[in-house]
Amino acid sequence: MLCIQCFSQLPVTGFIRQPGNPVEKIFYGRLNIQQAGSAFYFTKESVMQRMMVELKYRGNKNAGYYLGQLLGMQLADSDRFCFS
Ligand SMILES: [Zn+2]
Repeated sequence: MLCIQCFSQLPVTGFIRQPGNPVEKIFYGRLNIQQAGSAFYFTKESVMQRMMVELKYRGNKNAGYYLGQLLGMQLADSDRFCFS
C-alpha cells in the first residue's frame, strides 16, 4: 500500500514496547487497564494523516487493513500484549 519512502516516514511511537508510556498514563485512574499503546504518532500534513483520511472519510478499507497489519506486527513483536 505504501512505497518504501512513505513507509519509512511513518512516525513509530515505540509505545507498544514501553511500559508506562504516555497512552497508558492517559488512562491511569480512569480505567482498569493492563497495557495500552499507540503504534504511530498523528501529525498534520503527513503520510499518517493521509492514511487516516483514506480510512475515515473515503471508506478505504484497504487503508484500515494495512494499518491493522502494521499494528499487529508491533503487537506480535512485543511480549507486553501476549496473554497466552
Ligand atoms: Zn510513497
